Parts: sequence; structure tokens; C-alpha cells
Amino acid sequence: MSHVFPRHTKSDLPTAVGGDGCYLIDANGKRYFDGSGGAAVSCLGHSDAAVIKAVQEQVEKLAFAHTGFMTSEPAEALADLLISKAPGTLDRVYFVSGGSEATEAAIKLARQYHLERGEPQRRHLIARRQSYHGNTLGALAAGGNAWRRQQFDPLLIGVSHIAPCYEYVDRSDGESSFDYGQRVANELEAEILRLGPDTVMAFMAEPVVGATLGAVPAVEGYFKRIREICDTYGVLLILDEVMCGMGRTGHLFACDADGVAPDILCIAKGLGAGYQPIGAMLCSSAIYDAIAQGTGFFQHGHTYLGHPVATAAGLAVVNQMLERDLVSRVAEKGTQLQAALMERFAQHPNVGDIRGRGLFRGLELVQDRDSKAPFDPAHGLAARIKRAALEAGLICYPMSGTRDGRMGDHILLAPPFILSETQIEEICDKLAIAIEEGLAAI
Ligand code: PLP
Repeated sequence: MSHVFPRHTKSDLPTAVGGDGCYLIDANGKRYFDGSGGAAVSCLGHSDAAVIKAVQEQVEKLAFAHTGFMTSEPAEALADLLISKAPGTLDRVYFVSGGSEATEAAIKLARQYHLERGEPQRRHLIARRQSYHGNTLGALAAGGNAWRRQQFDPLLIGVSHIAPCYEYVDRSDGESSFDYGQRVANELEAEILRLGPDTVMAFMAEPVVGATLGAVPAVEGYFKRIREICDTYGVLLILDEVMCGMGRTGHLFACDADGVAPDILCIAKGLGAGYQPIGAMLCSSAIYDAIAQGTGFFQHGHTYLGHPVATAAGLAVVNQMLERDLVSRVAEKGTQLQAALMERFAQHPNVGDIRGRGLFRGLELVQDRDSKAPFDPAHGLAARIKRAALEAGLICYPMSGTRDGRMGDHILLAPPFILSETQIEEICDKLAIAIEEGLAAI
């Protein structure tokens, strides 16, 4: 009997024993194409020689130094590299061990920023329905996914949620994409005014929604309007790129495609590519200066901040992306993946939408393409497809989102950046089998 506490106590999962490029291998020698990189983590595949070497060398040289006493060479180098590529006035990097730690730190930094400026009443966070910002209590409070939150309500902080930018379901007939984006962005202004502008500390959103909707980018102009509203009311803009960042969308930072720069940016997953657990929060010089010229102490921290081996892995990952021009490759392979998915599934009666950016793609499953009605959540369709896909040798990420209290089924694909054209076909072949098996069972 296993003594590991699995997340799904009723599932019987294979034991991974090896990784080879885009494949994971289980204890029986079966190979699985990692079509979701776990959850958009394994962007370089599972056996990148340069990253493995960097990790080995760092652990031999210096395994750990607590950041309360010392910084380290790889942390300094990775921070410099990230800032040299980061948008806007992002100027400082706060390293953590994963996505929830990054978003949690962002929320606390936003609050402390306003405190340092003598605005203690600014403590309200606005986020979006259908979002996920992590599983720790603060991050969970920020997320707008009812299914993940409901057991733990009431949650910690004052948060309200506005509509996501979810064109497939919410754009009205006859409304242009642009007008739709402006309409939903303007919900932010309405909510700020409802709460009182001097009570709002920040707005938090994912540039491309990942774990709740399956790769939904905002329409053109949406984030520019959001940025404008934040600036008008002195509200900080926090972008959560934990899933969609680090090259995944065909841009090193996902917000580059939207032409906006946030005040705080959260990254994780692809930053360590699975070779080490690492995340980071990047903040603007204005925010850093407010702390530095105020109390001089960010009232937050964890033991493994800026871990030398994790930052060495992150440095090697980003260097690999840049040296091999993998971000351009993502854009190219992403276009091929979208075309292959369209060819295979666009006419499928239960595939309502195929969307995303770069190698971050989602399929939304519906009962009926005209009404876009989701399947009854009791069927657990996405979970069935995940199981059938595993059986067929494909790892894909299933999810159920809540919309007006209804659940919908989505499949997220986020394969390694190194995948080949043949492997794009392999994803489509195995996914087709899994979708048919999932549907046949309901
Ligand atoms: N934010 C987003 C957008 C995510 O998708 C996730 C995880 O899926 C998180 C935060 C939390 O990251 P982690 O699971 O590393 O804590």
C-alpha cells in the first residue's frame, strides 16, 4: 500500500520513473507523451542536458544560503536576465518556490505598498470570476473559481470578482470583439467606483486564463483599457503569468502580446521547467522604492527564497530559451498545433471552441455547438477524457470551470517547446481516441 497522500484519493495513478524528451515513462515501461507539461511546467521536456548540468554543478558548489544572510550568484544573474527582458518599469525580482507563493507575495506587496504611502484604507483586491491564482488561502481568495473556493469560504481578504474576458461564451450577437473587450474591462471601473476608489489596492488577472478555462486570451484592447482604468484610480495591476508566462504563448512574457506592462508580474512553472521548484514576483521600481524609502522591509518571506539550485535551474532554462530561440519556435509550433486541432476537431459536434496562443491551447467541450450548453457536471467528462488519454499514452490537463453556477469541460494542452510536427499529430491522434472514449461513457 502506498503511503503517499495523493490529491485524488480515489484514483490509481501510474508511478513515473523516467523522462525522455517529451515523454514520461512509468514503472511498467509505458511511455506517455506529455501534452500538458504537467500543468504548463515542462517547457523544455524532461531531459534537457544543459539544465541538468547547471543543477548538478550548482548543488556541488553551493546548495543553500539563506537570503536573510546572503544573496547568491545564480539568483543575481537570473534577476538581471529577467529584468533585461521584462516589460515596462519592472525592476526587481523576488524569488519564491512556486506559483501560489508568487501570487501570495504579490497581494501582500500591493497592500504594503499602499501602507507605505499612507493609504491604509486601500486593502480591497479585485479579480475575475473563472480565474485561478493558487491554492494558499490568500491566493485562493483572489481566485474566482467557485468550485475551488467553496469549501473554504469565508476566505481571508476583501476581494470582489468581475467578469473574465471570455469571448466564446459572453460576447453578444452583433457586438465586435473590441467592443466586447471594452465592455467587460469597464466592469473594473464600475467595481472600483462601487467600492470607492481610495479603498482598492489592486486588480489581478491572468493574461491568458489557464487552469479554469483552458487557454482563453483576452480580446484586443481589453488589457490596454484595464491598464488605463488602473492608472486613473491609482490601482496596481498584478498580472499572473504563472501558467501562461515564460515563452508559453510565443512571447517571453504573455502580456507583451497585449501591449501592457503590469506593476507586479508573477511567474513560476516554466521558469524552472520542472527541474526545480521556483517562482518569482517582479515589481516596478516605484513599488520597490516605496518599500525601500519607507520601512525598508518587505513584511513577507519563506525559507527557500532565491534558493541557489532553483535559481541556477531557472537561469539555465531562460538561457536555453534565448540561445535556442525557443520562443519563436513556440509561435511557429503553436500555429501548427492550432491548425492540426482545427483540422481534426473543428467539425466535431461536441467541440465548441479551440483557442489559445502559442503552445497554450484549449478545447471547450459542449453538449451542443449552437447553444454552447455545457455537459452536466455529474458526467465528469473532462476527467474521463484525462483517464482515457492516459490509457492511450497522452497526458492532457482536464478542467471544469464554473460559469453562472454551471460547470463546463475543457482540455488544456501545453506541450514542451521542443515537440516535432510528428508529435503534434500524435497529440491529435491520442486526443481523438480519448474524446470519443470520454463521450461514449456518458
Ligand atoms: N496562478 C496560476 C495562473 C496558476 O495556473 C497556478 C497553478 O496552476 C498558480 C497560480 C499556483 O501555482 P502553484 O501550483 O505553483 O502554487
